[in-house]
Amino acid sequence: MKIAFIGLGNMGGPMAINLHKAGHSVKAFDLSQDALAKVKAEGLQVAASAQDAVQGAEAVITMLPASQHVEGLFLGNGNGPGLLASIAQGALVIDSSTIAAATSQKVAKAAEAAGIDFIDAPVSGGTGGAIAGTLTFMVGGSEAQLERARPLLEKMGANIFHAGAVGAGQTAKICNNMLLGILMVGTSEAIALGVANGLDPKGLSEIMRRSSGGNWALEKYNPFPGVHENAPASKGYAGGFGTDLMLKDLGLAQENAMATKASTPLGGLARAIYAAHSIAGHGGEDFSSVIKMLQKKG
Ligand code: NAD
Repeated sequence: MKIAFIGLGNMGGPMAINLHKAGHSVKAFDLSQDALAKVKAEGLQVAASAQDAVQGAEAVITMLPASQHVEGLFLGNGNGPGLLASIAQGALVIDSSTIAAATSQKVAKAAEAAGIDFIDAPVSGGTGGAIAGTLTFMVGGSEAQLERARPLLEKMGANIFHAGAVGAGQTAKICNNMLLGILMVGTSEAIALGVANGLDPKGLSEIMRRSSGGNWALEKYNPFPGVHENAPASKGYAGGFGTDLMLKDLGLAQENAMATKASTPLGGLARAIYAAHSIAGHGGEDFSSVIKMLQKKG
């Protein structure tokens, strides 16, 4: 299939490479020359612009930072028409960025008017999952649209869930990430308390992992350096899922909670903690670096 892939960062780069390895013809575009060079080295075609990438594409996949990037790309940002005007009628657009459900619905409506299928398909599984092709996709769209997308999603992920109508994938994603943000702060707090009392972080983590406090961070993504060899904590908190991206997702959860009058006290507190961590200069580090806020210094 002829695919345009736009947004080749920590997640999009490996996802595009997996589609290429599966035999699809992928034309990739990113605003960053570095990101383009990385996929070019893997044999992907690179485009001169987003418009160039989508010429003749049967499917368009986007993996961009936030709502404004997705809306600006597809609908335009005042400097000319958006990308929808350049995409062929009948094409399928899969947006895997984590953005506001309302933005997905707005873009989907404009796409429908142009005769283009649009689904939201945000992911979970981190950069490790993107590289291994084992991501979880949470899809918002019709049953028929999901079935169109499935063969492509299967090349990038291991689990594909139909969350509901367009936008529902985003809602599922922010519920999950709100829980993840809270769990990472809680796990960090518990390890920091144990270490302040002289416990070995590895030993304590193993006790909690196999006890009732066990969770995903203790299984795969320990925030304490040296506990999990491949976790960002053991690599100077480089790569992984940035603090600022977690802050964005917790903000989306809070906006949604305000709109629906939902009560999310721990989600609100977690947002404030990551915001303080970002302001302290850790926005570009992996979100598990939030443990630095909670550790005794010296
Ligand atoms: P990233 O910052 O590494 O990559 C985003 C890329 O988009 C960058 O290379 C940037 O240059 C490019 N870009 C921005 N605007 C563009 C435009 N108009 N045209 C072309 N390229 C453009 O981010 P990431 O970690 O890959 O995350 C992407 C999305 O996936 C975010 O919405 C994030 O919340 C979500 N996500 C990330 C993770 C993770 O672990 N990193 C996990 C799940 C979901």
